[in-house]
Amino acid sequence: MKYIFVTGGVVSSLGKGLAAASIGTLLEHRGLKVLMQKFDPYLNVDPGTMSPFQHGEVYVLNDGAETDLDLGHYERFTSGELTRLNNLTSGQVFDSVIRKERRGDYLGTTVQFIPHVTDEIKIRLREVTQNNPDVNVLITEIGGTVGDMEGLLFIEALRQFALEVGKENVCFIHVTLLPLIKAAGEIKTKPTQQSVAKLRELGIQPDIIICRTEADLDEDNRRKIAMFCNVEAKNVVAFRDVAHTIYECPLDLRRDKIDRLVVDKIGLGHTPAPALEDWERFVQRIIHPKHKVTIAVAGKYGLQDAYKSIYEALIHAGALHNTKVKIQRIDVEDIEERGAREVIGEVDGILVPGGFGERGIEGKIAAAQYAREERIPYFGICLGMQVAVIEFARNVCKLKGANSTEFEKATRHPVISLQEEQIGVEDMGATMRLGACESYLIADTLAHQLYGGAKTIRERHRHRYEFNADYRDRVEEGGMVISSLSAKEGLVEIVEIPAHPFFIGAQFHPEFQSKPNRAHPIFAGFIGAALEYARK
Ligand code: GLN
Repeated sequence: MKYIFVTGGVVSSLGKGLAAASIGTLLEHRGLKVLMQKFDPYLNVDPGTMSPFQHGEVYVLNDGAETDLDLGHYERFTSGELTRLNNLTSGQVFDSVIRKERRGDYLGTTVQFIPHVTDEIKIRLREVTQNNPDVNVLITEIGGTVGDMEGLLFIEALRQFALEVGKENVCFIHVTLLPLIKAAGEIKTKPTQQSVAKLRELGIQPDIIICRTEADLDEDNRRKIAMFCNVEAKNVVAFRDVAHTIYECPLDLRRDKIDRLVVDKIGLGHTPAPALEDWERFVQRIIHPKHKVTIAVAGKYGLQDAYKSIYEALIHAGALHNTKVKIQRIDVEDIEERGAREVIGEVDGILVPGGFGERGIEGKIAAAQYAREERIPYFGICLGMQVAVIEFARNVCKLKGANSTEFEKATRHPVISLQEEQIGVEDMGATMRLGACESYLIADTLAHQLYGGAKTIRERHRHRYEFNADYRDRVEEGGMVISSLSAKEGLVEIVEIPAHPFFIGAQFHPEFQSKPNRAHPIFAGFIGAALEYARK
C-alpha cells in the first residue's frame, strides 16, 4: 500500500478535507483503488456526543460508526467503503492505551507518549492496511492545524511510520492559505513559509504544498514558496475558490496536475491520466441547470455544516433532474413565533431534517402540517419523519396531544416512543440505533416505486426513538401508509400519505448514501415532485 498524509496549516476551514477527497477522486479516476481516512486530534472518542453547533453534522457509516463530516466528503468523492477504522480520534487512542495499561499489557514499563501513544496511532494505520489488501493508496487527513498541541503526537507517529514503510511509499501534502491583503493588492506567502517551517521542525518535509487562494497563484509566488519551503516549483499547487460547486475541486486541482505529482512520488507513475468525463458532465449539469426549484429546509442548527449531507443529496438529485435546487433555510423557532405560512411561504418542497431535543419541535410539526394541508411535497428525515407522524396523529387521527416521549414523557398518545432496548440506557455515546440495516418495502407504495420496485433496502440509522407499534392501526386508519418495516425487528422505517402528491418520511438517513451521478431515490423523487409542483 502507498500512503498520502494530508496536513493543514495557517488556519482551519481551508478545505483540507475537500482537497484530500479531491485527490482521492483523481487517483480513483486513474484506475487506482483508493481508501480514505481521517485522524481527529480532539479528545472525544467520536463526534457522536458533540453538538451540531460545535461540530456540524455527525456522519454515520454502514457499520454504525459516528464520524467526522469529512468522511461524508470522502464517500461522495470516492467509492472505497469506510468503516469505524477510518476515523481515529485522540479519545480512541488514549482509551486504548489506558485499557492496555490497566490490563497489564505493558507490565514493567513506564507508559509514555512516545512510544506507546504514537505506536497506537501506527497500529491503526497497519490495521487499515491489513484489512484492505486490494487498496493501492490510503489517504489520511490529519484534522486541525500543524502546531496545535493536540496534533503533535499524530504528526510524530506519521514521521515514524514513513521511515518504517519507506519514504518512497509516502507522500506528505501540506495545505495552507495564501491570504490576499486587499489594501496592498498582494498575495502573502509568509504564513505558508512559517507553517511549512513548523512542519519541518517536527521532522516532516512536505512533498507537495497546496495553496488555498482566492486569486490565482502567479509564477513569482510559486517560485518563492518553492524556495522557502524546499520543494520544486511544480510541487506548489494552487487550490482556488471554486465558483459554483465543491464538485469542481478535483477539476481545479487537476489544473496543476496534482495527481501526476502524487503518483510520481509514490511510484505509481505508470497509471493513465484520469478519465474525468462523467465527473465533468455532472459538474456541468450543476452549473448550467435548465430548471429551478426552491426547497425549504426547516431545521434548528442554523449552521451550514449541520445538514451538510442533506444539502449535497439535494444537489445530486437536482443534477439528475437538470434542476437548480435553491435552499431556503428556515429556523423552526421562527415558525413557532410567526406561523408556517408566514415563514415558509411559497416553496416547491419542504424538508424537515433530523434533530434532537425539544427546542423548535412545534415549529417542525407546523412545517409538516403546512406541507400536508397545502399539498406541498414533503420529505421528513428521522426526526422529520417522527414529527410528520405526530402531526398526522394529532390533526387527522384526532389523537389529542400526541407526541414523542422524547419531548413529553407522560404524553397521552406516545406515537413515537423508546424501543425496549433503549430504556435504561445511560451512556450517551454510541448507544443509539446506528448504522445500516435491512428493511422490506411494501408493494404498491410510493417508497416501493421510488426504489425501482426493490424488495429490500439497506439504509443508515441514527436515532433512539421509534414509531410506537401500538399506534400503527390508528394511524393507518387515518390514511397514513407504512411502506417499509425493518427486517429484524419489524420497526417502521418509512411512512407516506397516498392522498398527497408527495409526502414521505424516513426513519433512516438517506442523505448518507447519495452520491454524484447516483442520486438517492427518495431525494430524486422529492426533487421530481417539487419540479412538478413548480410547474403547476
Ligand atoms: N431525536 C430523534 C431520536 O432520537 C431523532 C433523531 C434524528 O433525527 N437523528 O429518535
